[in-house]
Amino acid sequence: MADQPAGSAVWNATVLTLFPGMFPGSLGQSLAGKALESGKWRLETLDIREFARDKHRSVDDTPFGGGAGMVMRPDVLDRAIRAAHRPERRLIYLSPRGRLLTQDWVAELSNAAGLTLVCGRFEGVDERVLAANAAEEMSVGDYVLSGGEPAALVLIDACVRLLPGVMGNDQTATEESFTDGLLEYPHYTRPALWRDAEEREWAVPEVLVSGHHERVKAWRRAEAERLTRERRPDLWSRYRGS
Ligand code: SAH
Repeated sequence: MADQPAGSAVWNATVLTLFPGMFPGSLGQSLAGKALESGKWRLETLDIREFARDKHRSVDDTPFGGGAGMVMRPDVLDRAIRAAHRPERRLIYLSPRGRLLTQDWVAELSNAAGLTLVCGRFEGVDERVLAANAAEEMSVGDYVLSGGEPAALVLIDACVRLLPGVMGNDQTATEESFTDGLLEYPHYTRPALWRDAEEREWAVPEVLVSGHHERVKAWRRAEAERLTRERRPDLWSRYRGS
């Protein structure tokens, strides 16, 4: 690619899934979609079912020890991982048990050579295949999805917008939420005076139309701090401590 450093390959995401039709999904639209089309990153999907060997092409079985649901088989998934994964990439299993995804982690992964992502279904995957392949586990939040695919879309979206040349204005990435440990300040655009459906008038904060660059900057900083303090005490105490 013209805008990739010499000798470095394009950032690549390979997704192992039972539902390849879910991709590119949202990643084929807008910012990520344009970048995909112009070759700034690459997406591959591998259908885990292709690696099933028995005549029913089964990918799951009942859990040892009993209980509800089905578990994805280690032998089938391992064959898929071996076909897809390259040692220079990161191997990640999307899982509600995983480490919570943060913007710092996103930044680190967008600087890596690429990702191999394993999407679970049913009750999850056999533990041994995760250990055998030293997979990292990543969660997108403390709630349970029906499959890893939406989580993979979230992770890839967050990484792709940080790739060089994808977002256009690189300033955007350095100013937004989490980058400096704070939530972002509020935004306003035209009209400067807006009348809502009940005929109430809403003006934009005066400082934003004052033309004083330094005052705008100070106001935004103060608002970012206020919002973080009010909404996210966890981020606020980390910010104050750092
Ligand atoms: N029985 C499991 C949940 C399985 S949900 C448990 O209680 O922990 C089925 C699949 O959805 C999982 O294998 C995982 O790949 C995906 N998944 C569910 N919630 C997720 C989350 N918060 N983050 C990332 N992946 C998730």
